[in-house]
Amino acid sequence: MHTTHDIKNLLDIQDPNITFSDACVEIKQDRGKVCKFISATLTYTPTHCAVCGMKNEHFSVIKNGTQTSRITLPLTGVHRTFLLLKKQRFFCKSCSCTFVARSSIVDRHCFISNQTKARVTMKATEVHQLRIQVMNGFRRGYNEDQKKYRRLKRYWKLLLKNEKDLTYTVYKPFGLFGQTTDRTVVDTLLSYDERLQVNYTLYQSLLNAMKDKDINALQTLLKQPLHETISMDFRRSVRTLKHHLSSIENSFMYLFNNGRIEGIHNKIKVLNRVAMGIVISRTTVSGSSFISN
Ligand SMILES: [Zn+2]
Repeated sequence: MHTTHDIKNLLDIQDPNITFSDACVEIKQDRGKVCKFISATLTYTPTHCAVCGMKNEHFSVIKNGTQTSRITLPLTGVHRTFLLLKKQRFFCKSCSCTFVARSSIVDRHCFISNQTKARVTMKATEVHQLRIQVMNGFRRGYNEDQKKYRRLKRYWKLLLKNEKDLTYTVYKPFGLFGQTTDRTVVDTLLSYDERLQVNYTLYQSLLNAMKDKDINALQTLLKQPLHETISMDFRRSVRTLKHHLSSIENSFMYLFNNGRIEGIHNKIKVLNRVAMGIVISRTTVSGSSFISN
């Protein structure tokens, strides 16, 4: 009891359903790095089923195994610290669905990773806004400027596409260019304005580092000094990414991250609903290995 109280104080965890046992702190190697792991349990008796909403009466909702999440703790110490949260899983007899105990600390973790994703998506909007600014700058000009204006107006979608999906080799007819490739169109549009070029390049690099889960590439990108034409909003996004670097790294390293697990569980839920009445609850076990191949 003392252990729980002290550790919760230390970690700022208010959830009364989370408990810590004695000897819950362990120092282990994780992918070549020494890390500190703190184990905790999250359990309670739900009042209702989280899936169908039926009241938990006469043991209609029963405990059904656990699911462990690894959460990066924002502690600064010698070693990186993770919370291994063993969350109670429940089975509802009314709808034959399973659900996992919830806690605000897990929601907060999701919030950080969702916020990070949102930041990267936002930069697409910034590149888009910048393209409009640059385009409108050419609007009132003559011949050459008019050509640039029309090209930026017609082919803007190619600027938001992942660079890796642009073809270098396939020639297609582009009304305002003639026979050429996606890559040439994008390079030409970018050559019209330095700001557009610089912001586009940073956006694409961040996008790909996140997509490839390449923490070294991301670190290098965030460390380098920002070009003077990088917009204020973009600078703010870079600061946020830097701030959450350890959570991002954790989500890259953790093979079965929350998103994936939740995804698999949703599929199982659907499968259970579809198979209800025909298949008994053992499906959940075979179902999960079948889906997550
Ligand atoms: Zn239910």
